[in-house]
Amino acid sequence: MNSLRFNLLKEALGRKAVPVTSENRPADEFAKYVFNRETMQKYLSKYTYKTLTDSIDKSLPLNRDIADGVATGMKQWAVSMGATHYTHWFQPLTGGTAEKHDAFVEISEIGGVIEEFSGKLLVQQEPDASSFPNGGLRNTFEARGYSAWDPSSPAFVMGDTLCIPTVFISYTGEALDYKTPLLRSINALNKSATAVCNYFDANVSKVISYLGWEQEYFLVDDALYNARPDLSLTGRTLMGHESAKNQQLEDHYFGSIPTRVLAFMTDLENEALKLGVPVKTRHNEVAPNQFELAPIYEELNLANDHNLLIMSLMKKIARRHNFRVLLHEKPFKGVNGSGKHNNWSMGTDTGVNLFSPGKNDVENLQFITFLVNTMMAVYKHNGLLKASISSANNAHRLGANEAPPAIISIFLGKQVSEVLDKLEQVNTDDVIHFDGKTAIRLGVAHLPEVLLDNTDRNRTSPFAFTGNRFEFRAVGSSANCAEAMLTLNTAVANQLSVFKLEVDALIEDGMPKEKAIVTVIKSLIAKCRAISFEGNGYSEEWKAEAQKRGLDCETSVPLIFDNQLKPESLAIFENCGVLSREEIESRCEVKWEMYTKKIQIESRVLGDLAMNHIVPVASGYQSVLLDNVSKINALFSKEEAAAMASQDKIIIKAISDHIGFIIEKVAEMTEARKQANALASEREKAIAYHDTIVPLTESIRTHIDKLELIVDDRMWTLPKYRELLFIR
Ligand code: ADP
Ligand code: MG
Repeated sequence: MNSLRFNLLKEALGRKAVPVTSENRPADEFAKYVFNRETMQKYLSKYTYKTLTDSIDKSLPLNRDIADGVATGMKQWAVSMGATHYTHWFQPLTGGTAEKHDAFVEISEIGGVIEEFSGKLLVQQEPDASSFPNGGLRNTFEARGYSAWDPSSPAFVMGDTLCIPTVFISYTGEALDYKTPLLRSINALNKSATAVCNYFDANVSKVISYLGWEQEYFLVDDALYNARPDLSLTGRTLMGHESAKNQQLEDHYFGSIPTRVLAFMTDLENEALKLGVPVKTRHNEVAPNQFELAPIYEELNLANDHNLLIMSLMKKIARRHNFRVLLHEKPFKGVNGSGKHNNWSMGTDTGVNLFSPGKNDVENLQFITFLVNTMMAVYKHNGLLKASISSANNAHRLGANEAPPAIISIFLGKQVSEVLDKLEQVNTDDVIHFDGKTAIRLGVAHLPEVLLDNTDRNRTSPFAFTGNRFEFRAVGSSANCAEAMLTLNTAVANQLSVFKLEVDALIEDGMPKEKAIVTVIKSLIAKCRAISFEGNGYSEEWKAEAQKRGLDCETSVPLIFDNQLKPESLAIFENCGVLSREEIESRCEVKWEMYTKKIQIESRVLGDLAMNHIVPVASGYQSVLLDNVSKINALFSKEEAAAMASQDKIIIKAISDHIGFIIEKVAEMTEARKQANALASEREKAIAYHDTIVPLTESIRTHIDKLELIVDDRMWTLPKYRELLFIR
């Protein structure tokens, strides 16, 4: 066997579980490294604490008068936890998080070094961030971008660094990150949802959005990962024939977790708990070496920070266990990819989950109101929502024969569908006042028990109602959830405002409130029915049906992004104050640019590997066969030799054909890249990469994968799927 690959396999196979560093995880270690309210109380003056928590609770900007007090307390605490540095931790549009570490020391006026961390440094920083993508919002010569603390997300200590969650905005105030518009969308939803809640309960003064994410990922042995330049440079395998066994037997899902993996998970969970992430569930996923981690749901902004934190923590801790974690949406062809289900819901400050059927008619009508408005929002903006989850990576999942399809639809379940059917038919004259005693004669009063059994969840639906929340399943595993969540929040916030206007207009005309609500709901149900689909989302019939219903069926990612610039999309972002036209336009540019770059890198890596790994190895094997044939010819009679060498000759010919194809297509691909790169517009460039380069990479791969099957295993240099997927 090729000695390098052989040695790597030996190394990987010989690994034992790395002992877990902290052996127990007592409850009192929870949030040990978080500057939460409990800790704040110890380190801040009474006045500072009260002012700070008030501004958090009321979503007000941080009062600068107390910034110094907060900074002093925060630093004192961080130092006691072993921190020597601090960083503003922000979420650039590249995905992931970015940090710039500074020591707590400053040069004093008389020249010596003093420890310092002032309110000014806490509240605002100027990372020289000209190299972060901004889609033209900030010229490179005007490199100033500001980061500013988001006090609604607590600071934490990771290693020797105090991490301060921040927003990242341009000098002129435009959002350059995900957090800023997410926070704005949370506010917008709060505002319009609270107004609608007040139809039902005047005591509601705040509506909170929640997120519970489920993070899927793959683990690969470190040694094997390092021997695959495609994995280490692009996060996925660009070649590799399917393993004879992969997920057909479905024996990995809920199978027992391998010890080496379990040790990693335990370590990860311990660290996550100390950072205040309430991790709860872990299990194997469908594909071999694929796993999932889910916490208990939290307030959306915090949950999203925690997801980002987990993603970086995973990478770090995996190394400790000689694993590499793959967050890419499709690391391996032919086996399931990874997603991140976003369980999303809204709740009031009076403790009511707005997606839970209630105890009485009023609560049930409120539930139906929020359900139907959400359906309408998703219906109206299904293309935009698809844009929010689309990327070069996620494209491998969308539309392929696995969750989710490239069409956004809603699964409601039988019971809820029936209630809506009934409601659509109801005579609004039957609607009577909410007196808490008499039924509204809608049949909705009987919802609670039924819904609890609503677990026949349709796994093929990209957006499913699961009893007390919606589950947006199309989100990619490596994505920042904020993009999907802020789009959903905005669409729903806008729809709720429209709803309120319509209901108020009817009330003004003299219609009783309850009747007005039911009247508008009825009309909404009729309008948005096209979004609900209970059948198999993977089927061909659905694609045809969805097209007929007018749902967005586009599959080209660069074209899907166009949805963001449609007038109705710009309108909701602007109406809700979430993103301005300039911000959306610049974000779109960034998306096209990122798409192009991803495909460009993949195409280059594939070209290099094809030419300097695959072709030489294949022709090396071919020359072994040629040598064999000439030796046969020398030794045997013409007739005998012809028979004996016939198989070799077939393989020799096949190798020639594959090599010839690969060399030709790699050259064609290089030329296609040149042409695409010369295009001036980011959109056109991305379209060219999608239309010409992606198909070329796929055809080159097909021939490489065929060669993998023919060439002597001992000569093959790259670890194969059966090794990457099954060794742990
Ligand atoms: P699944 O069967 O989809 O794997 P889980 O029980 O693992 O479901 O839960 C998925 C996620 O949904 C968890 O993070 C859980 O906390 C979250 N979740 C549960 N209820 C809600 C809710 N009302 N709002 C938001 N998330 C929720
Ligand atoms: Mg789920």
